[in-house]
Amino acid sequence: MYILPIRKLRIMVLTLALISALIFLLPPTFTNKEEPLPQPQLAVSFSKTEIFPGDYFVIYVDNLKTTDEINILTELVGKTPPLISYRNGKIAVFAVNYRTKPGQYPLVLTINRNGQTIFEKKEEIVIAPKDFQTQYLQVTASQQATRTDALAQQDAVHVNKAKSVSSDTPLWEGLFIMPIEGRISTEYGLVRYINKVESGRHAGLDIAASRGTPVKAANSGIVNLSRLLNVTGNTVIIDHGMNFFSAYCHMDVLLVKDGDSVKKGDIIGKVGSTGFSTGPHLHWTISSGALFINPWLFLEEDPLGWI
Ligand SMILES: [Zn+2]
Repeated sequence: MYILPIRKLRIMVLTLALISALIFLLPPTFTNKEEPLPQPQLAVSFSKTEIFPGDYFVIYVDNLKTTDEINILTELVGKTPPLISYRNGKIAVFAVNYRTKPGQYPLVLTINRNGQTIFEKKEEIVIAPKDFQTQYLQVTASQQATRTDALAQQDAVHVNKAKSVSSDTPLWEGLFIMPIEGRISTEYGLVRYINKVESGRHAGLDIAASRGTPVKAANSGIVNLSRLLNVTGNTVIIDHGMNFFSAYCHMDVLLVKDGDSVKKGDIIGKVGSTGFSTGPHLHWTISSGALFINPWLFLEEDPLGWI
């Protein structure tokens, strides 16, 4: 009979103990059960849900899949704004016309994935009352003649073209700045009467300054238009990306050209009184697409700074 030497026996016992310890300690591999990675959750957030007529708010939908469809129903705006890709999701800028009646406006946002509604959010958007100023202007017949519909329509062709192209990434950096220092001579949204006839709302800010005052780009972007127009005179339109544009009107001279890249604070022209204007001033507007919105907001908040 063969008897194992004690030393060999000890090694065998130790090896067996080690193997069983390993089996006990190692997780069983044969089941191969992997923990699913946590999926980023869809989330919908609003920059604001209470605004004044002529202001705007932004909806951000986070963690979308590329094939997800977003539908937004509301009577607050005539046309649903475009959804623009931003970070892991999309944004929609709701620019609200200054003629919008104050009140509560329901908004329903749904997200469909593979033909099924996977998300729904209902929100009440409050449009708070705001008293816009009124202004009565007397202009001469020759000044009035510079503002015929035909001339305005010629301008609109150029302006609409300039505002139809926008970078799909933000080109602006932080807060916007006032393009010139000066007294605000006409407020945004003011109801203007020319020779006692309502001629519409004031789409931007009029800032009074002497002829030749350098005009700064309110923020960084690309010059989409720089030319003499009939009504707004020497005009510059800057694309800031995500469908935001700023415009600078009635300038004496233009110092940039179409396609120029400008940085916040760059000099783009000089104050003048070209086009339909009663004296040297800068008419400065901000729009989301073609709709003019309250420029003051851009001096106080970065449109996407809250995301
Ligand atoms: Zn103006």
